[in-house]
Amino acid sequence: MTTDFAFRSGAEQGIFPFELVEYGHSVEGVPLRYLPAKKEARLLVFAAIHGEESETTFLLSRALRKLFSAPDYVACILTANPDGMLRGTRCNANGVDLNRNFPTSNWKAEKTLVRLVLEAPRETELSTGSSAGSEPETQALIALIQKLGVKKVVSLHAPLGLVDSDFHTELAVQMENVFALPWQSGVGYPTPGSFGTYAAEKNLECVTVELPREAPEILAIRHAEKLADFLQNYR
Ligand SMILES: [Zn+2]
Repeated sequence: MTTDFAFRSGAEQGIFPFELVEYGHSVEGVPLRYLPAKKEARLLVFAAIHGEESETTFLLSRALRKLFSAPDYVACILTANPDGMLRGTRCNANGVDLNRNFPTSNWKAEKTLVRLVLEAPRETELSTGSSAGSEPETQALIALIQKLGVKKVVSLHAPLGLVDSDFHTELAVQMENVFALPWQSGVGYPTPGSFGTYAAEKNLECVTVELPREAPEILAIRHAEKLADFLQNYR
């Protein structure tokens, strides 16, 4: 991939240099913030809707910190679930798996089953919320997408090591290349109330990137520059 823009020096990469804009508050009152696109948002990339997938925040931050300015056409959310991140949990402060809380036609009130590590059975129960779209983090993300008017979203997760979307679109191929991951349609089990399902019902294109099971620093070494390149050059 070509790199036709200047990267920040190592020293400049130490801080997050761009101003974040508030788009809501978490259950605990933590501000939800996003990085606006410099010109016009055509794509939204969000990380850490699952609070225990902090490597997604780290990698997105490392990529953005390589740039001299915010991407022209990509808005970014570093942490969609700050309460979960602060607690080190998948769920938010209400114990809700936000990626099962979106108002979809198949949202279910029954608890969702998740696995704590890849080798574990899916036997750990989490709430999907008191109703579809009950959580402030879910509501704020939906409102932000509507406000920005974006039609395409990349959702960063870990650690399945794949790119998942309904169709093998140009954006899906770009994610395959940035992260050197295979594409597939679906993660192998139903995900009612997920953002991906919500997006499909709203005619938004959603590409879910499941980072591989790697230490954050390895992910940054392998993918931060390519991700920076993608963000900067996205049109
Ligand atoms: Zn996840």
